[in-house]
Amino acid sequence: MPDSVVTRKGQRLRILLTPRYCKGCGICVELCPAKVFGSEPATGKAYLAAVERCVDCGLCELWCPDYAISLEREANL
Ligand code: SF4
Ligand code: SF4
Repeated sequence: MPDSVVTRKGQRLRILLTPRYCKGCGICVELCPAKVFGSEPATGKAYLAAVERCVDCGLCELWCPDYAISLEREANL
């Protein structure tokens, strides 16, 4: 299982973070209620620090200004 996949609400959820789209604004780091994201010290770019804590609230995908985060929900991820 890739480390970006967790099972929530009976579905497998994949958090896709595309570093080249990320401008390092830190919104996802601040907004995520489960502290899933960290930020690289040198660039500020987000990374997945603890996917297993995700509660599938959807806020990161909704609020990332650069569409760097997307959530995929599939039965067969
Ligand atoms: S909200 Fe988007 S652009 Fe901002 S740090 Fe997170 S992934 Fe990067
Ligand atoms: S869906 Fe919610 S809990 Fe999961 S990483 Fe995004 S903001 Fe955090």
